[in-house]
Amino acid sequence: MNKVGIRERLKQGVVLGAEGYLFELERRGYVKAGPYVPEVVLDHPEAVKELHREFLRAGAEVMVAFTYYAHRSKMKRVGREIDIEELNRSAVRIAAEAAREGNALVAGNLSESWMYDSRDPDQSDAIVRPMFEEQVRWAKEEGADFIIAETLDYVGEALIALDVIKQAGLPSCVTYTPLLDRSRDGHPWDEACKILEDNGADIVGLNCGRGPRTMYAFLKKIRKAVACHVAAQPVPYRTTGKQPYFQKLAVPGKGCAFPVALDPFLLTRFDAAEFAITARNMGVNYIGLCCGGAPHHIRSMAEALGRTVPASRYSPDPSVLPAGGATCDAD
Ligand SMILES: [Zn+2]
Repeated sequence: MNKVGIRERLKQGVVLGAEGYLFELERRGYVKAGPYVPEVVLDHPEAVKELHREFLRAGAEVMVAFTYYAHRSKMKRVGREIDIEELNRSAVRIAAEAAREGNALVAGNLSESWMYDSRDPDQSDAIVRPMFEEQVRWAKEEGADFIIAETLDYVGEALIALDVIKQAGLPSCVTYTPLLDRSRDGHPWDEACKILEDNGADIVGLNCGRGPRTMYAFLKKIRKAVACHVAAQPVPYRTTGKQPYFQKLAVPGKGCAFPVALDPFLLTRFDAAEFAITARNMGVNYIGLCCGGAPHHIRSMAEALGRTVPASRYSPDPSVLPAGGATCDAD
């Protein structure tokens, strides 16, 4: 079967992505919060496959291989460096199997290395580049259609990721996590994205860290600054001007909500749908959610974008809600 690639799909319209594998599999009891290493790929592959399938049924057009933090530095830290190649290859294979159940693309996945030091770019390159190279090589050999490099916070590190992806001859989606108003090496996000575009990235933008409400202002500037495709995958949490990224959220009297007590801040499926429409109207081309996103969010986003997806068969029927005839106090 000849698959339509990411570049061609983006030319035709918005591509709906879906991430959040790490948080969702943590909630389901397959990933340990703290280290957040995707050992589940080897230990319970069926759980990963099932989540891919749920996102696929909800309308996700890209199955993102669950290799987030499956790089050498992190794997070493949890004592599973020996499993690194098998984990990476298996993750892409599982994503590819799920993708074949629908009409989805397979994305390889790179995450920030935590080894990049902007004070010593050459030494950083020598450490980070081989980590990215092996992951991209494995992803390509297992059939990834393109590579998503994400949660980057240094332009320098993003450029290494981009270069490695380009060397492999694959399309690239490179996104930063905007905790503050600029990258850790000092570039405002619109400029940081423009640098990626100038270096040949296909898709640039933001993911993770901020909820939609506190990400829009950056996205507007990025849309103005670049001509290439823009991606937005915020976290589905109610971040605010005072607590602009989810690591800042706190439950009064109970302390930090991040990372495992974020539930009270979770967006509803209706909020997620609103985000999809707002992002599309801003000219964002690749729309999804990051940590916290779940299949019901993605289905609502797909439907808001005018699509009927396999899981739409079970979308809510308001005529039989609420159960038992009880009504709420809404006016
Ligand atoms: Zn995230």
